[in-house]
Amino acid sequence: MDIQSTDKQYIANTYARFPLTVVGGKGSVVWDESGKKYIDLATGIAVNTFGVADEQWQAAVTAQLTKLQHMSNLYYTEPCAELAQLLCERTGMKKVFYSNSGAEANECAIKAARKYAAEKKGKDYYTIITLKNSFHGRTITTLAATGQEVFHKDFLPLTEGFVHVSATCIEELECALAKYKCAAIMIEVVQGEGGVMPLEQAFVDKVVELAERKDLLIICDEVQVGNGRSGMLYGYMNYGITPDIVTTAKGLGGGLPLGATLLGEKVQDIFTPGTHGSTFGGNPVCCAGALSIMSRIDDALLAGVRERAKYIKNELEGADGIVSVSGLGLMIGIKTQKDAGEVIAECMKHGVLVIKAKDKVRLLPALNIPMDQLKEAISVLKSACAN
Ligand SMILES: *Cc1c(COP(=O)(O)O)cnc(C)c1O
Repeated sequence: MDIQSTDKQYIANTYARFPLTVVGGKGSVVWDESGKKYIDLATGIAVNTFGVADEQWQAAVTAQLTKLQHMSNLYYTEPCAELAQLLCERTGMKKVFYSNSGAEANECAIKAARKYAAEKKGKDYYTIITLKNSFHGRTITTLAATGQEVFHKDFLPLTEGFVHVSATCIEELECALAKYKCAAIMIEVVQGEGGVMPLEQAFVDKVVELAERKDLLIICDEVQVGNGRSGMLYGYMNYGITPDIVTTAKGLGGGLPLGATLLGEKVQDIFTPGTHGSTFGGNPVCCAGALSIMSRIDDALLAGVRERAKYIKNELEGADGIVSVSGLGLMIGIKTQKDAGEVIAECMKHGVLVIKAKDKVRLLPALNIPMDQLKEAISVLKSACAN
């Protein structure tokens, strides 16, 4: 079977795939059908936290798989409870709702914020402020939250009650808060799909101040930047803030689908039986994998993330053909003089996988990528960028 042509014939045409069929891998190296190896700096878009076929993660997942693969949320299972406890203890959040993806984690956050505001302030207070250039998912409601029109245009009308303001202009936020009856402000501290753009500390501080003054919830979308990638357990921790709701997915399950919405003190009791749910959410196999991932993201690991990030920035900043480097931790965007697509193709030719974020080259390596592999990959990337 010709995999690529079968895929093209039978899979909906939503992805511009690279001409590469990956059949296996180990850690930060993957290989194609011909055995050609690639150093993977993309990790399935920040999902394979410890790379491919990581042994500890595999052992945790297979041990659970041989016991029980699913029971639904009508019953208790051990990994589900244990992971929730760990997530709450390490963040100070109070309760967890599980789903299967980032978009669903955000849907839950939006429902929680609306229900809280309706009960506390009145049902007119449903507007949620999000930022221009943000990305929150592909469902009709998370598209509405996403502040990039390019994703909206074919799917109107979207869910109402979302207003997008500039991520750099505090006046725009103040105007929106004066004009609309708001429930929450939702931010990514580093806009991933928006081009790997960290928010300014001063802007985030102002968001916190305004939220306090106006009695608004702060929702941090940590789907991409969370779970150690920023060099802290969650990205918001770099900013010293305490959100009311934290959403995460991507790297949480280490390669299996798992979303989590962490509910802080104010909203911890907002849901009651029947108000929200998910059939697969909190699947015991996914939770067992996540438990293994989360328990390894400790201080030593995070120091390693920051060290690798520093190495990458030092190497790339000011290098031939590189205009600028942005990001936080191992979530890095590179503005190149050459077209990003061209750089990505050149890297792939020479055995390195990187992806795009808007017009930038994006790096999302495994948090434990061995330094020798990282050095080799960065040297290939630098050659690909050079004029
Ligand atoms: C990827 C992403 C999402 C959507 O996650 P899915 O699992 O694809 O639904 C939401 N928010 C952010 C910040 C993301 O990077």
